Amino acid sequence: MKKISSPAQGRDARVPGARIGRPKLIKHINLRRVFDLIRDAGEISRAQLSRATGSSMTTASKTVDRLVAMGLIEERGLETSDSRGRPSLIYTVAKTSSQIIGISLEPHRCRLVKASLDGSFSPGDVVTFSMPSTYSELMGQLRIETRRLMTPACRTLFIGMSVPGAVDMAAQKILISPNLHILDGQRPGRDLQKSVKVETRLVHETIGTCLAEQIYGAARGVKNFVLIGTYEGFGLSAIVNGDLLTGAHGFAGEMGHVVMQPDGLLCGCGQRGCLETLSTDPAFLRLLGARLGKAITFSELHTRLQAGTLRVDAEINQTLDYLATGAAAAINIFDPDTLAICSRMFELKREVFPDLVHRMAGKTLRPLSDRCKIIRIEGDTLRGGVAAAVHHIVTSLGPRMDWLD
Ligand SMILES: [Zn+2]
Repeated sequence: MKKISSPAQGRDARVPGARIGRPKLIKHINLRRVFDLIRDAGEISRAQLSRATGSSMTTASKTVDRLVAMGLIEERGLETSDSRGRPSLIYTVAKTSSQIIGISLEPHRCRLVKASLDGSFSPGDVVTFSMPSTYSELMGQLRIETRRLMTPACRTLFIGMSVPGAVDMAAQKILISPNLHILDGQRPGRDLQKSVKVETRLVHETIGTCLAEQIYGAARGVKNFVLIGTYEGFGLSAIVNGDLLTGAHGFAGEMGHVVMQPDGLLCGCGQRGCLETLSTDPAFLRLLGARLGKAITFSELHTRLQAGTLRVDAEINQTLDYLATGAAAAINIFDPDTLAICSRMFELKREVFPDLVHRMAGKTLRPLSDRCKIIRIEGDTLRGGVAAAVHHIVTSLGPRMDWLD
């Protein structure tokens, strides 16, 4: 581990403006690095932090004091950790003095939960209510439930909100939500923030799910990770060299709207024959519904498959082939270490996921497919809302410093 030199000794001190900018940057570097270390270690003392960062006890202590004042970490108590048996204060990520709130807006329900700053929460604390029929009713109920989760004894630092549909991340506005039209053109994050006076950040549900995998699951410690979700539309979110890829306007990953059949079905985006209309769970159900002459849901499908009164092979094959094309293109574009795919089609038959992987192999550039781990996951949008809050807090502290190691 390299030691961070003092700003006055660095060569950049001769660059105009560097005297002002660099100490501030180093402060942010220390804040992020110390917070990451405490989060990863679970608990740590000032002396252990000083050794781990290669900085002096004074610098480590100042950074710890700043993080405590910001409400991001807290004292857990005294513990004997050195060889001379002297007790020292142990710090953890804030669990009792501060909290964050995660919210998930879904087509038929809204869920919210309070969580620790490391993203952990108790399933028993999850609050659920049915999705109201108007935006004003939704916001009214959301305000009430959010305020119930906020207590004076525990500071609420941030709220993350996962939403379906096309989201302008920069403007924090939902442009269109094909499966939850009451959100069309709305800014629920900004509207909630105005009422409860806590900074709130909106994320597309696929981005939230991807961030959740970075904190809780398959993307933990993975530098290049791509997630494809097909539950509603074709959502893609990518972590590139450890950072979330957003694009210039927050729309990066909208691969679902690549036109595959120019004379195909009208897509929610206004084009015809988008990948989204051919490769997703709704596309599969639509094909099946067309053959049966009536709409069918996944739960009805499970019942009929178990009873052996329905075959779905033709529709699965057709949908999987398009999904394989989209997923293979994602590997060719992003060259990820891991590609995770969510689809309810995988739950129908054991062979569906291996079949998809087999189809992808024939559509991906060989050296890339050999090196990419392809996995199936079940994304949870509420974890996505919590993860969005954690991600915002952590990235606001400062840049990642693993290039120093
Ligand atoms: Zn489209």
